Order: sequence, then C-alpha cells, then structure tokens
Amino acid sequence: MNPELGEMAQESSRRGFEVIIETNGTFDRIEPLLGVEGCHLWVAVDGLNQSSYEVYRQGGNLENVWTTLRSLAEGKRAHDTPWPRVRLQFIVMRHNEHELVSLPERAAELGVDELALKHVQIGDYHDRPREELGSKLWPRDPRFVLDALPGAGKPMLCPQGLAATVLSNGDLVMCCIDYDGEYLLGNLFQGSSLLDLWRSPRGRRLRREALLRRTELCEKCDFTHVHPLVFRRRSKGPAFEGVT
Ligand code: SF4
Repeated sequence: MNPELGEMAQESSRRGFEVIIETNGTFDRIEPLLGVEGCHLWVAVDGLNQSSYEVYRQGGNLENVWTTLRSLAEGKRAHDTPWPRVRLQFIVMRHNEHELVSLPERAAELGVDELALKHVQIGDYHDRPREELGSKLWPRDPRFVLDALPGAGKPMLCPQGLAATVLSNGDLVMCCIDYDGEYLLGNLFQGSSLLDLWRSPRGRRLRREALLRRTELCEKCDFTHVHPLVFRRRSKGPAFEGVT
C-alpha cells in the first residue's frame, strides 16, 4: 500500500474527484482518510472466519481486517463524518456461501455503510483450467455464478478500454488485469502527462484493442461488466435487508 494513500485521496477530493480505494483492508494508517469527502473504501472480506477467509485470501489474517473496519467506524464517529463510505465486499464462493446468512449482522456490527456481494471471476491464466477451478469455487447459488446469469458470456466490448489504469510505479497500462505492465502506454513519472499517453498513437491502438478484447491477455480474461449486488445500510429495521 502506498504510504501516501491518504494524502493522494485528499488531493483528489480537493480537485473534485470521487475516489474509490479497493483494498484487502490490512493497512493501519486510516487517519488521513477520515473526513475525505467523496472517498469510498471497498474492503474485500471473503470469509467470516479465518479458515473460510484464507481459502481465497491466502496468507491473510482476518483479525487484521476486522481491526481496520472497527477503527474506521470508530474514527468516523469520533470525527463526526460519514467519509470515507465503507463497503464490505464479499465474493460468494462454494466454501463461503453458507455464511451469507450471518453476513448482514456481522457487517452491521462492524459499522460498514454498504455490503456488496460479488461473483467470482476465473480467467484462463491460472495453472489449472478454468472449469477445474470453477468446480471448486463456483457456489451452488446460481445468482452468483457468472456463467449461469441471463445473457452469460463476455460482453462484446470491454469497459476497461475506456478506463485509465496506473500502476504504483507510474506505468499507464491497458487495463486493471495487466498487472505486469505487458501492454504499456508509457510512464507518468518520466515526464509524459496522462493525456499525452492516452492520446498517443500507441495509446489509441491499445485502448481500441482492449475495447474489442483483441489482445492475447483478453483471450484468457473473464472480466465482465456484471455489477455486484449492493445493499446500503438502513437507519431503521434490519441493517441490510434482502441479502439472502
Ligand atoms: S478483456 Fe482485455 S482489456 Fe478487458 S479487462 Fe480483460 S484483459 Fe483487460
């Protein structure tokens, strides 16, 4: 995690941007994020106990994530601010779908603002075939199996072709799946502006290929435009109604 994350969020907010931070929730410097207007923190928690959590989040410590969420709730109360808005994100899989029943209560107890239930995405770039991994990870509940959704299959155009992804080393890359910067538009720490790289001939070509899913990486990728099911916290009645 970039140690200046909070300051980056503050600056972006000051310039009028909405900020979404996706994290596994294992960072402890939350103070700079408190009160940052327009800042949303999405914390991935894919299990309610250590054994179900670490099936997917290997090597992770769930207790650290609970500590972060509790500190955020306490910090917001102390500063009397609704920001950052905290979302607990839960990828529904075979080994954790039984936990959906107790998830709303747990989320309310941790003081999060939103609960998001996501389907698992399995590309073909793992050392095991997609079907084999899927048979282990896809839940029984068809609402959370991508292949079972109406209109299943990849959308023709990839929305990532319209998004800018910058890695922590300043590389502007084709999309958020290009972790290794294989499809590089250029580097923002070496004098070029994002707009220059975005509009360069290489930038235009890569964005077009991304949009049309034409690269080798795209062939193996399961990225979809299907959104998670999101539940907002209510002020009265059950905290997150309709989850199960
Ligand atoms: S389909 Fe291609 S451009 Fe879209 S997210 Fe996957 S790898 Fe990236």
